[in-house]
Order: sequence, then C-alpha cells, then structure tokens
Amino acid sequence: GLCQQATFMISAAKVDQCPPDEGYEVAFAGRSNAGKSSALNTLTHANLARTSKTPGRTQLLNFFTLDEERRLVDLPGYGYAKVPIPLKQHWQRHLEAYLSSRESLVGLILMMDIRHPLTEFDRMMLDWSQASHMPLHILLTKADKLTFGAAKNALLKVRQDIHKGWGTDASIQLFSAPKRQGVEEAQAVLAGWMGL
Ligand code: GDP
Repeated sequence: GLCQQATFMISAAKVDQCPPDEGYEVAFAGRSNAGKSSALNTLTHANLARTSKTPGRTQLLNFFTLDEERRLVDLPGYGYAKVPIPLKQHWQRHLEAYLSSRESLVGLILMMDIRHPLTEFDRMMLDWSQASHMPLHILLTKADKLTFGAAKNALLKVRQDIHKGWGTDASIQLFSAPKRQGVEEAQAVLAGWMGL
C-alpha cells in the first residue's frame, strides 16, 4: 500500500537544508495536539512522527521518504501557547520560506481537531493555500470523540465555513487514528497528488 516504506530522511532547520527540490512532496500541517503525528503514522503504517517529537527536532521541517521521488514533510505546529514568541516567529519565517519557495510541493494536508476547528493556525494555512493556489485537504481528526451524527454535522459546518470564508475548493473529511476511519480516503488524495 501507499507509504508502506516511509522512512525518516532528514530534519531541516532552514530551506537551504531541505533535500533537493525535485519529485513530489506533500506537507502535513496542524496546530500542536491536532493529531498530526497520529495521522502521519496511521497513513504510513510507520512510527514516523515519534522522530519529529524527538527533542531538538521539534522545531524543524522533518522529511520522510516514500520512494525515490516522493516525500512527506512534517511541518512545525507552532500554535502552542507554551512556545515562546521568538521561537514561534522563527518557525513562522522558515515555514513561510519553505511554503513559498518549494517547487516540488504538490499539496498540503491540514489536520484540525474536530472539536476545535479553524484555529488561528488553520486560518493562516487556509489564507496561504488560497493565495498560492496550493491544493489543500483537511482531516477533521479525532472524529471518534463525537457521535457519528455530531461528526457529520461538524463536517458540514466546517466545509460551509471554509467555502464562505475562503471560497476554496479544499476537500475535507472525517478522520480517526484509533478507528482508522478515513484512512483510504486520505491515502487516495495523497496518491492522486503524487502521481501514483
Ligand atoms: P500532534 O501534536 O498534532 O502531532 O498530535 P498527536 O498525534 O500527538 O495527538 C495529540 C493527542 O491526541 C494524543 O494524545 C493522541 O493520542 C490523541 N489523538 C490523536 N488522534 C486521535 C484520534 O483520531 N482519536 C483520538 N481519540 N485521539 C487522538
């Protein structure tokens, strides 16, 4: 299946430390605690994201290889209240430099906790993807925390808010790591973007 062979490649503190800008890259973004690590691990059948939480790597872009021409990138989720403002600004600068310059970036997956969608971080990513015409796919994570009906309603509401607020055609789905809900749907999006 997709991403079966995903392995940690490199951490980059700056854009000039990124691997060669060729092939296909999909970036994963989410406010801290949104469930990004769990989603990455679930989608790749690996324990990638533990790597990203290793002290010293947490403020970096972490690259994972899928195959010779395809990579996933774990972006810093700096929306964390405990992070000092200068560090947030440092992350934001590098994140923006990466997002605006990366030719191989073909899409962005944004994780939002279904109970706390559209945070300031999420709005910034929506602004950016709209301005840059970058394909965006949203995972409403922790869908298992709500009843099926409540999760469906949340999905409709967030989809509508995004359409009204940004007019983008971002796609959006329910996701649960422990239940493995929405795994195939998300993998199909990745495969489509990456020419698989
Ligand atoms: P990250 O900071 O965005 O990488 O978030 P994590 O993946 O580390 O998840 C944060 C917390 O939410 C952890 O305690 C996870 O076990 C929990 N979590 C993540 N995804 C899910 C999910 O789909 N369902 C439930 N119930 N808990 C989740």
